[in-house]
Amino acid sequence: MKKAVYPGSFDPMTFGHLDVIRRASSMFDELTVAVLNNTAKSPLFSVDERVKILAEATKDLANVKIDSFSGLLVDYCRERDIHIIIRGLRAITDFEYELQTAQTNRKLSDDDVDTIFLTTSLAYSYLSSSAVKQIATFGGDISQFVPDFEIPLIVEKYSKN
Ligand code: ADP
Repeated sequence: MKKAVYPGSFDPMTFGHLDVIRRASSMFDELTVAVLNNTAKSPLFSVDERVKILAEATKDLANVKIDSFSGLLVDYCRERDIHIIIRGLRAITDFEYELQTAQTNRKLSDDDVDTIFLTTSLAYSYLSSSAVKQIATFGGDISQFVPDFEIPLIVEKYSKN
């Protein structure tokens, strides 16, 4: 079975992430979307909330599983017999960090885990979680960036702050 993992913060999940998930899910028998539990960041959504949002958004994709992880991604891969990491590339600004991370993961896994990059769909090349958060902070319209069901969840977070 050809398996892959798509790791990320997904805070919040955007149409850019969903585009990568859809495209990657058609290339593999099983795609696990893994939410990074990063204690260093103070997130908008908890890991559990992000897992639920991703599960709702991908419920029509039978071969997509949602999970979370903390610690090293290569350890997560080894435990689940996954050898491919999916990442999205938007612009040249993503490249340097992504190249370094991919090479580090390859080294850490003794050449057992490779990273495959999907270039962004042009429609979403400008789109990032941080832009969505910034727009939402000022009460702007985020309907072009995230699915309808996610809008009130994001708005609610900012109404509490
Ligand atoms: P990170 O994992 O770096 O904290 P994200 O959760 O925002 O960041 O992104 C997870 C992955 O999705 C990364 O590989 C990122 O490049 C990719 N990604 C984010 N937004 C888009 C987009 N609009 N188009 C394509 N890929 C994207």
